[in-house]
Amino acid sequence: MGDADGSGPTMAGDREEPVRAAERATLRTAEAPASADEVPPADEMTPFEAVNYQFDCAARRLDLPRHLQVALKTPYREVMVEIPLVEEDGSIRTFHGYRVQHNNARGPMKGGLRYHPDVDLDEARALASLMTWKTAVVDLPYGGGKGGIDVDPRTLRPGQVERITRTFVDRIHQFIGPNEDIPAPDVNTDGQVMAWIVDEYSKFEGFTPAVVTGKPLEVGGSPGRVSATGRGVAIIAERAAADHGIDLDGARVAVQGFGNVGSWSARFLADRGARVVAVSDVEGGIHDDAGLDIDALTEAANGRSVVTHDRGDRISNDELLALDVDILVPAALGGVIHRWNARHVQARLVVEGANAPTTPAADALLAERDIPVVPDILANAGGVTVSYFEWVQNLQQFRWTAEKVDTELTAIMTAAYDAVRDAAAEHRTSLRTAAFMVAIQRVARAVQVRGV
Ligand code: NAD
Repeated sequence: MGDADGSGPTMAGDREEPVRAAERATLRTAEAPASADEVPPADEMTPFEAVNYQFDCAARRLDLPRHLQVALKTPYREVMVEIPLVEEDGSIRTFHGYRVQHNNARGPMKGGLRYHPDVDLDEARALASLMTWKTAVVDLPYGGGKGGIDVDPRTLRPGQVERITRTFVDRIHQFIGPNEDIPAPDVNTDGQVMAWIVDEYSKFEGFTPAVVTGKPLEVGGSPGRVSATGRGVAIIAERAAADHGIDLDGARVAVQGFGNVGSWSARFLADRGARVVAVSDVEGGIHDDAGLDIDALTEAANGRSVVTHDRGDRISNDELLALDVDILVPAALGGVIHRWNARHVQARLVVEGANAPTTPAADALLAERDIPVVPDILANAGGVTVSYFEWVQNLQQFRWTAEKVDTELTAIMTAAYDAVRDAAAEHRTSLRTAAFMVAIQRVARAVQVRGV
């Protein structure tokens, strides 16, 4: 057993080792600056490089030895499988399924499954790594994982999403499980997909609802899980707004993405008095400075694009990001605020509902203009927090009330926000670097006390 400070016998000294090919491939950090974390690096980083850049900004301030940094950035396990889909005419479409398990020092790996044509190994690594830091920021007993299939579900016929989901589970079931790795919904996956995973996994292991979270209530889902990420975004936005002199009552808000996270964020922000003036989805957006009726919009959307709604003016996604609003909530895909459009952002506060919506270059440009960004690993952690409650309920075979879920969620999100805000003030750094610092310290400590 090594000493808790990492200087004990199980920890190698901080000697310079030759950089191996695998390390170059997975750990490259583009142009990490020598000291300040405000230097804008190139936007040409891959998603995993961008997360590792953010990690490096925090690790430098923590004075973590290099060998520990390398260990913390390296994914624990990466699985890639072929997913064939036989069409009615006998032809075969071949997809790729990924599951990256990043770190399990603090508990089983946890993270979503995404069905999107852009899914690949690098993106899964980035999102799995973010999950390690996210679960640590909100202090859940989990590590990080992420995965998905490189498929556009809009190109599939009825029944085919179920078929590829079951094939994926058949090929990765030995790597997931309630004490191993617990997937959840992400872009283009939902409770129905989770129910198919429970069913397929249970054929191998017996009835095991705790293998995934975000399930329908009928198969062990938790009250409050569907809306949890949006509720968490609103809780965090309210506190961050107050800290930055923005009165949420009447504040103008723009939300990019009107899926699970975006629509619930909009609804909970509107419930708190905010005026949601613009929303969008993959087809485009709508804008009404008088405020949109989010309940009516949600009802009308129901599988249809927000642009089919009869209120508001049509705007593009780029125009939405540049609106003169108090709070901007990007809640769709990664990398949407980048070096080329960051200068057009006029919001007074950005709250990241999506994972990795702001590139490091954009982050630096926003910082230059004093636009605070509440980072994804804090702002959208409400989803994984209620996933944790769901898993606890499954393991205990005991159902919580919706009120208990909301109370516990609010307590965890509030404590996490306060810890990050205090760390940012103490270290005079951004909320993102502070969130990474809080998280890295917790994971590093777990790695050190367990021993590698
Ligand atoms: P979703 O599939 O329910 O919704 C995605 C939304 O983004 C849809 O409205 C879609 O039309 C829109 N969209 C897709 N491509 C777009 C584009 N190019 N431009 C503009 N809009 C586009 O997905 P979700 O679960 O709401 O996830 C959204 C983001 O939040 C992702 O980054 C995801 O990783 C993150 N997230 C989700 C959860 C969760 O609990 N679901 C938790 C934490 C973080």
